[in-house]
Amino acid sequence: MEQLWLVDTPDGPVSVRLQRKRVKNLNLRVGTDGVVSLSIPMRFPLSRAEDFLREKSDWIARTLARQRARQVDPMPPVSWEMCVRRLEEALDRVYPLAASLGVPRPPLKVRALKSQWGNCHWARGYITLNAALARCPEGLRDYVALHELIHFLHHDHGPGFYARMDELMPDWRRRRRMLRSYAAALEEPVQKEKRPRAVSPTV
Ligand SMILES: [Zn+2]
Repeated sequence: MEQLWLVDTPDGPVSVRLQRKRVKNLNLRVGTDGVVSLSIPMRFPLSRAEDFLREKSDWIARTLARQRARQVDPMPPVSWEMCVRRLEEALDRVYPLAASLGVPRPPLKVRALKSQWGNCHWARGYITLNAALARCPEGLRDYVALHELIHFLHHDHGPGFYARMDELMPDWRRRRRMLRSYAAALEEPVQKEKRPRAVSPTV
């Protein structure tokens, strides 16, 4: 079950995604995209969930405000070709780290994704990076590229995955934190330019 609720906060009404899940406790979180969600146990009364959200309304407003304050302006948009070049370069920079672990150099696909910086299609042997990364600093592109490469070795985000990241890029957590402040780049996706159709000349 999933519902959208409206909660009054000191900064105005905020939408909250409410989900019933197989969890023991209420879990309220504000995503990096500014989406507020609350998971509640399967049989938890909705009226109590509502009370809980009312109690937490100050916290929700504060967290959202802090998140907005942390946002920075992404670099100016560039052409699709430049996006592809910047992301290929990022992959080239970090690939040697994965090569030493036996990961073959995957083909890179650049896409305009809405809510993900990248993706590893390990079964098909390629990775996807979001064109919006081209508007983020180089060190953050490198972090996402390495993250996706490591998924060839560890498909999920288990302890093995994080241990490998710690080993190869000890400051990856700081990079991940910084990347969150570039969420504005996701809102304005770089589009692949369509070639103008050749028009037959008229006489
Ligand atoms: Zn991942």
